[in-house]
Amino acid sequence: MMQLIRRKARRAAATLCVLLLVLTTAFGMQKFGTRADAVPTAAKPAGVSLPILMYHSMLPASVLRGTYIVSPALFEQDLQYLKKEGYTTVVMQDLINYVNGRGSLPTKPIMLTFDDGYYNNYQYAFPLLKKYNMKMVFSPIGSCTEAYSQTDSDHITYSHVTWKELNEMLASGLVEVQNHTYDLHKNKGGRLGASKRRSESVMDYQKVLRTDLSHEQDLVYEYAHVRMSTFVYPFGAVSEAAADVIRQLGFQATLTCSEKMNYITRDADCIFGLGRYLRSPKQTTAQLFAHIAKTSGQKK
Ligand SMILES: [Zn+2]
Repeated sequence: MMQLIRRKARRAAATLCVLLLVLTTAFGMQKFGTRADAVPTAAKPAGVSLPILMYHSMLPASVLRGTYIVSPALFEQDLQYLKKEGYTTVVMQDLINYVNGRGSLPTKPIMLTFDDGYYNNYQYAFPLLKKYNMKMVFSPIGSCTEAYSQTDSDHITYSHVTWKELNEMLASGLVEVQNHTYDLHKNKGGRLGASKRRSESVMDYQKVLRTDLSHEQDLVYEYAHVRMSTFVYPFGAVSEAAADVIRQLGFQATLTCSEKMNYITRDADCIFGLGRYLRSPKQTTAQLFAHIAKTSGQKK
């Protein structure tokens, strides 16, 4: 009987994680106005330019395609382009070291971020990172990692990575894990992602956020022995009242979905609210980088 209940619970969790893919597709593109949104217009701001690319699911051309799903072939073209153009991939720890006066950044840094923790990232993106010796910032949804770690499901379209697969990726030195919430990656009851419900008090909201994020921190520390440094807002949904909680929990940076170039200085505050460019399968690699150059007012 217990086993049946457990099996049902796992199946329900797996269904929820599939729904997340749909939700990501529906809301991932929404832009949430923050004060840091403005695209630089006049002179190039001080600091090292850092474009950050945002990927989600990765599937071969023959399988399901959508706005948030790129093929391994397109991803490989991106990596070849980065290599040819002299980019070096960096992860959040490189930025944290730099803003705190430790170490330097490469001449042309770039960051590759993968959200939601899909198994297909492990299956397709990870081998390509090894092939080209490039790095990624991987931000799984904790409840999905937990649910899939309890099943033997490894379906390329909807499964999520397990602790075992996450640990294998971390051990390569090419993957850094970050916090994308334990169980707030949804649009439910007036709350989109980790944002504040209009109806709730700041205190109630902060409690919900603190409980969820710290649970995810504890879980990843327990299963992967990593203290994550960065909070990655689900759907880019940012609430002002989140800032205090995020800093109190010790996060040193945040990633949003605002499309903008980042300029990294030695000021530790400059890595809160970092912008990212959605990697859409509708663009070729050249078109993507032309778009980045245009929006940042820079030559590539
Ligand atoms: Zn997400």
